Amino acid sequence: MKILVAIKRVVDYNIKVRIKPDGSNVDIDGVKMSINPFDENAIEEAVRLKEKGIASEIVVVSLGGAANQDVLRHALAMGADRAILVESDQDLQPLAVSKLLKSLVDREQPALTILGKQAIDDDAGQTGQMLAALLDYPQATFTSTISINGNEVVAIREVDGGTETIGFNLPAVITADLRLNEPRFVKLPNLMMARKKSIETINATDLGVDTKPRLQLLKVSEPPARKSGIKVGSVQELLAKLRAHEGIQL
Ligand code: AMP
Repeated sequence: MKILVAIKRVVDYNIKVRIKPDGSNVDIDGVKMSINPFDENAIEEAVRLKEKGIASEIVVVSLGGAANQDVLRHALAMGADRAILVESDQDLQPLAVSKLLKSLVDREQPALTILGKQAIDDDAGQTGQMLAALLDYPQATFTSTISINGNEVVAIREVDGGTETIGFNLPAVITADLRLNEPRFVKLPNLMMARKKSIETINATDLGVDTKPRLQLLKVSEPPARKSGIKVGSVQELLAKLRAHEGIQL
């Protein structure tokens, strides 16, 4: 069984992002970029499925500029077998990414495609769902457990009220939640070996997909600053303040 994993290069989760002075976007000049955390869970799951003998090949794909090679090498170091860079200098929005991924699924024919549940830069959480719809495949989003038996998959999903267990057949699309697993630490020798592996590069324009942006970014601004809190000396004082506060009845 072949697994395709889609990985996005995003601003590292430890970085506090700055907004450009003209409010046109987030300033990523010189900022540390990394693999989207949920996509690491997606790779880890694929590698574990291979270690269990369920998967036979793991192909990772990233869409964007040539710099995305670093996240692909990270995935190869984690245990992926092949890497594909779909190169584009456009702003690829979730619909465009889903269409490009669909053409790769058509080409690679994976039984399972795993994505992250959302990319932490735009927090869209849309690509997996749109990809499944375009392919007309079953989907399990926000997945925290997967078990595969032949052609049948049982997935546990994180939903608002707790968890939901669903069953479906392959081929399918899954999006990974953080709870799915703990991604392995990448050892230096594995990274060195991954540097030697070749990365197939496809030009996004060669896939014949309309990737025009459908959304326009109007403005980026800081969230309003929170007012600082106050300390009260006693429970009585707290109750008095709450009673005095409009709309609170105690
Ligand atoms: P989003 O819908 O943008 O929140 O992204 C959800 C998931 O889609 C990510 O966690 C990735 O697995 C995948 N994805 C989004 N953008 C890209 C990209 N440019 N390259 C590869 N995978 C992507």
